[in-house]
Amino acid sequence: MARLILRPQREARIRAGHPWLYRADVGRFEGTWRPDEAVTVCDAAGRILGRGFYNPRPQIVCRLLTRHDEPVDPAFFRRRLEDAWRTRQALAYDGNAGRIVFSEGDRLPGLILDRYADVAVLQALTLGIEQHATRLAELAAEVLGVQAIYRRADPAAAAIEGLEGLSGWLLGRGEAEVEIREGPCRFRVAVETGQKTGFYLDQRENRAAVAGHAAGREVLDAFCYTGAFGCWALTHGAIRVLGLDASAEACARARAHTEANLGSGGRARFEAVEANAFDALRDFERVGRRFDLVILDPPPFTRRKTALDAALRGYKEINLRALACLRPGGLLATFSCSHHVSPALFEEVSRAAAQDAGRPVRLGATFMQARDHPILVTVPETRYLTGLLLEVIE
Ligand code: SAH
Repeated sequence: MARLILRPQREARIRAGHPWLYRADVGRFEGTWRPDEAVTVCDAAGRILGRGFYNPRPQIVCRLLTRHDEPVDPAFFRRRLEDAWRTRQALAYDGNAGRIVFSEGDRLPGLILDRYADVAVLQALTLGIEQHATRLAELAAEVLGVQAIYRRADPAAAAIEGLEGLSGWLLGRGEAEVEIREGPCRFRVAVETGQKTGFYLDQRENRAAVAGHAAGREVLDAFCYTGAFGCWALTHGAIRVLGLDASAEACARARAHTEANLGSGGRARFEAVEANAFDALRDFERVGRRFDLVILDPPPFTRRKTALDAALRGYKEINLRALACLRPGGLLATFSCSHHVSPALFEEVSRAAAQDAGRPVRLGATFMQARDHPILVTVPETRYLTGLLLEVIE
């Protein structure tokens, strides 16, 4: 069995609960490497730290799947999947969609598994997991009781890990569009072509929380994608919702969603406009267009630590503009999904934006990713979504 021996004094991070090994941590490799076989990881004194797949290509050459000296085989994967599924069932979400496996957060680094009604979408983010994709799909279908599993490539991970990066039905064959239910709303998810695996499952709890403040308010959903926040807000009594998105297709889907959920009343109370939110917010500010609730859920402004400053400037800019477009007593629900932007940093950016906008704000709530995207406290990288509800109090 292949063994990966760390250099002296390189085990502290691993022992502290982090599962990643960097290339620079590795002293030597014993045995024959196979991408589909877990290697045993030992410290320099030969003590076993755990087991994981090895890939010499990326900086992170190994992510521990287990801290025990146990086989990483179908029985192991089944236990992990059953454990993940049990924790999702315990959440008792009202609906039939959710993240079932969140990579490191579920001690299955490299694997994403999302369920959309009776279909699941699988993403392999590491070479080792990609080697087992078909077997993992079979096991997942059994554990979850789904009929079909689609594999979505992640081009960024494929480039880093040297993956084949294939997309297609791994098991069974489902429809390209799946209808899901999330609380009071129904959405059609394009599993083959939508963003991420088709839907922003990580915002489900925040959609419910923000909708709880929507009654009687005129809402701007500035990065609306397929209109999920807007549909929730309208079902909770929002007067009107204006959605903006840079994607014309997302806008069309958002319109279809509000109509399907609210009938002709939805059509009258919802408008989606293809626009750059930065420009639109600036125009609204200039012409005096005002709202009672603004939702800012932009894409990550950076995936790299080196671009953090530019990302923070971007967040400050949109938050400043959004605050300027709020009526007195208005609410801003603002989010960041850049994992380099910590909750503390994001709060600082929001404070600076409020100061520059000259608007005193009260903190109404803090947000994080939905609980089916579990955060391991010893693995800060598992925490990526943060948000604030700010109330303009003048
Ligand atoms: N809140 C949504 C998810 C938003 S994802 C939900 O709950 O489903 C971010 C969205 O921002 C994407 O749909 C993307 O198309 C859009 N986007 C990216 N850059 C943009 C820009 N400059 N202006 C407006 N929309 C943008």
